Amino acid sequence: FAAPGTFLNAPERFAPHLPRRHASAHKGTFGTLAVVGGASGMMGAPILAARAALYAGSGKIHVAFLGPDFPPYDPPHPELMLGEFDALALERMSAIAIGCGMGSGDLAHRALLRVLALDIAKVVDADALNGIAQHADAATRLREHATHAVLTPHPLEAARLLGTDVANIERDRVRSARTLATRFGTTVVLKGSGTVIASGDARRVAINPTGNAGLATGGSGDTLGGMIGALLAQRMPAFEAACAGVFLHGRAADALTEEGQGPAGLTAGELAPAFRRLFNTM
Ligand code: AMP
Ligand code: MG
Repeated sequence: FAAPGTFLNAPERFAPHLPRRHASAHKGTFGTLAVVGGASGMMGAPILAARAALYAGSGKIHVAFLGPDFPPYDPPHPELMLGEFDALALERMSAIAIGCGMGSGDLAHRALLRVLALDIAKVVDADALNGIAQHADAATRLREHATHAVLTPHPLEAARLLGTDVANIERDRVRSARTLATRFGTTVVLKGSGTVIASGDARRVAINPTGNAGLATGGSGDTLGGMIGALLAQRMPAFEAACAGVFLHGRAADALTEEGQGPAGLTAGELAPAFRRLFNTM
């Protein structure tokens, strides 16, 4: 790669930072993650993210819904704690993943401002990114509490954040990711084929080699957000958590595809158990 500080994302880069399970560990060792999102009619997205976080090793996981009509628990995964956003003590979380299925109403805006004001590691995805693009107060708050934040835009979300169009983002993806990282001072994951991960100071840029078009399916981004959130909850540094999450999420899709479970018809939910298998053999 021409640009200095740019490298191919590979396990030897992030493996030393992966959380390890010592014999004396208890669930508190692996952190508590809150997944914030799920407005009315969009409850599936945060549940997918939370399930992925469970398989990625987070000690405890809450789903904080913004809509009133959320289910009491997730039948296949009663380990997850579901509840309403206002009832959750966010300050006690080790990490927060915000945005999946969050919508764009007043409540979403208020929730976004509350989460962005916390100096807690966070993944900012989907509607949370759109909220930051739309509301100057949210953008300012993100900049003020940027440490340990990971933004995970797909090209359209990146275009909204930079006030440009998708073609302009895609023309130079490394530059786009760097510009976003510099704008907000956060780690940035610019998604799509050849995902680009830029560190908050824009000095390190990793190009990801894993993943395939099987990931072009609803919910695969939510799953990635949950995985990175789980690694942050386990106290991995933001850039390394993003690199590991993106690499293993893509490698999970590749492994499933080799087994004939993709690329066509690969489902986002299948990525989590495949991620777990890879994670435990790293
Ligand atoms: P989202 O657009 O938020 O659902 O996220 C989609 C996820 O799938 C991201 O992690 C993308 O990088 C990944 N993805 C989508 N299409 C492809 C592709 N053609 N090749 C590799 N990864 C992809
Ligand atoms: Mg998405």
